[in-house]
Amino acid sequence: MRTQCPYVPEPSVNGERCTATIEQAQRYCWWHDPDNAEERRRAASKGGRGKASREIKDLKKQLEDLAADVLKGNVDRGDGAVVNQIINTRARLIEIERKIKETEELESALTH
Ligand SMILES: [Zn+2]
Repeated sequence: MRTQCPYVPEPSVNGERCTATIEQAQRYCWWHDPDNAEERRRAASKGGRGKASREIKDLKKQLEDLAADVLKGNVDRGDGAVVNQIINTRARLIEIERKIKETEELESALTH
């Protein structure tokens, strides 16, 4: 026998109650089972987007550290400029990679 997923959205969320049906042995549907949170996140990132945003975060951190080190005199200004260029280049590559991925997804969506 199947029953309805008991998940009810937060009052602040302008959504309807979950309409998925579940086996009685289950507590929630796949989307609302807390045990599936990690798997849902992976599916949502679609393999590439999560990686790109993590890389951007890393680059931002590196830039912050670099700026702080240059200001404190821990890093030579010339070295700082070169490292800044490398970080910029990596940021551009991530952007290009993201655009290629988007184009490929669009193309496969159009041809399938
Ligand atoms: Zn549900």
